[in-house]
Amino acid sequence: MSSLGLIPFSFHQMNTQFKLQPLDTLTFDNSFTRELPSDPETTNNRRQVKQSCYSRVHPTKASRPQLVAYAREVAEELNITSSVCETEDFVQVFSGNRSLSGMDHYATCYGGHQFGTWAGQLGDGRVINLGEIVNKYGERRTLQLKGAGPTPYARMADGFAVLRSSVREFLCSEAMHHLGIPTTRALSLVTTGDQVVRDMLYDGNPKPEPGAVICRVAQSFTRFGSFQIFTARGETDVLQRLIDYTIRTDFPHLGEPSTEVYLRWFEEVCRRTAEMIVHWMRVGFVHGVMNTDNMSILGLTIDYGPYGWLEDYAPDWTPNTTDAGGRRYCFGNQPQISHWNLTQLAQAIYPLIEQQEPLHLALGRYAKEFEHGWQSMMAQKLGLNAFDPVTDVDLVTELQEILQLVETDMTIFYRQLAEVDISTEPLNDASDMKLLEPLMEAYYETDQLTRDMITRTGKWIRCYKARVQKDSTLNGSRRKRMNAVNPNYVLRNYLAQLAIEKAEQGDNSRINELLELLRRPYDEQPGKEEYAKKRPDWARHRAGCSMLSCSS
Ligand code: AMP
Ligand code: MG
Repeated sequence: MSSLGLIPFSFHQMNTQFKLQPLDTLTFDNSFTRELPSDPETTNNRRQVKQSCYSRVHPTKASRPQLVAYAREVAEELNITSSVCETEDFVQVFSGNRSLSGMDHYATCYGGHQFGTWAGQLGDGRVINLGEIVNKYGERRTLQLKGAGPTPYARMADGFAVLRSSVREFLCSEAMHHLGIPTTRALSLVTTGDQVVRDMLYDGNPKPEPGAVICRVAQSFTRFGSFQIFTARGETDVLQRLIDYTIRTDFPHLGEPSTEVYLRWFEEVCRRTAEMIVHWMRVGFVHGVMNTDNMSILGLTIDYGPYGWLEDYAPDWTPNTTDAGGRRYCFGNQPQISHWNLTQLAQAIYPLIEQQEPLHLALGRYAKEFEHGWQSMMAQKLGLNAFDPVTDVDLVTELQEILQLVETDMTIFYRQLAEVDISTEPLNDASDMKLLEPLMEAYYETDQLTRDMITRTGKWIRCYKARVQKDSTLNGSRRKRMNAVNPNYVLRNYLAQLAIEKAEQGDNSRINELLELLRRPYDEQPGKEEYAKKRPDWARHRAGCSMLSCSS
């Protein structure tokens, strides 16, 4: 009787063990691990990894993983439906607890300059790649878990990530995408059920925080530092294999790898980087840690750490307290830092080119392309047909000065500038105060506006009106054009922080509300006006809102 009783039980066990789950139908095509040299050692101990692009390593199991949020558009790109994202299996797979057939787990080796100094081997210390999927559009997508445990590249750290930084990366990468900015994406955010100890402000107050894992998705996660490490070690053969692989896989339009193609490839990396930075400057995004290991070879925004959004327009602002002294990575420095980082990449590929001149020329073109891109972007922000250097250099220079006279919210300023009526009153009749009316909402402390500031800003608005009138654009079409490039909603630092605080209490609703809001950042969304308002005063000096560190 007892043995008969056991039979159905063991059948049941077998059924659940072998039943295919919807995610089992995902097919992987792992070109990175197939084509590039791997670390022969497979133990998960921290080490220097030579002559290899990656090391195979498995995620650490999460004790009680729970779904916090997922991005349905990213899932759709991977042929995963929303209903599958809401299954227990999805949580198991994207916490790293269950591996799918065809997955190949690995961490990549890279180096980098951190804050201007060569740091040697860094690598995926807490990122474990799952493999590559070619989706129904024929696009290659690498999936990787961030925070799923240590790898050979973990150095002194634990390999995990906390909920706070994972929410920030999840929301911001999706927000950037919807703003039209090249970026890595985020498929999912789960909590692990395990605690992770962090000293959030590096002030000697470590405390346990909820652990989390995000699944990031991108065409490729290769960084400038991925090339630098091989040059630094004199491993030119591996360097060449990685460049050839990258060109064949991600830049096939450039042709078969050769010295000439390497140069064309570098020029394209320069161009893509310039485009990305122009976008950052357009929306007031400050990356915060533009080390060369955080620069994507595809010109994607990558590695969201202590990033921030300009509220008050201050070019020397950085959200990263670790960088408060030097302000190397402040808003206004981002174009020059990219140039510096590209120079490091040029040095890394030099052994394959052995000519300085063309690399110098490409770097020079970066500067020109950035300037050109920035000027057209500024023209768009102002609703002009095109940037006219004769008049607009002065117009834009004076605008940047005006924005710094008194604490002025950059996002609100540009949205409100679209409301300035071009068609009315003869230009010189209107009083300065009347001209400034639509902009008042952008000022944090209106009583700080002095008479001189009002006069100067009024004068600028008159010039602006005259300039727009020269284009003969109507108010309506100008507003429409401006509102398509000047967002209404950005992930203001305090909004992310409020969502984090709720999530730490077990309520994920704010995260999902923000994700939804930021899907249409250029639209007015009725009922959501609160999210487009200025940062409240309590958030001015609060940790997580205005002060962030690299602790994550
Ligand atoms: P980041 O400042 O996030 O770009 O990280 C710089 C380097 O430190 C990279 O190699 C990361 O993989 C590594 N890293 C950062 N945090 C951790 C962590 N908690 N565990 C292991 N490695 C980490
Ligand atoms: Mg990084």
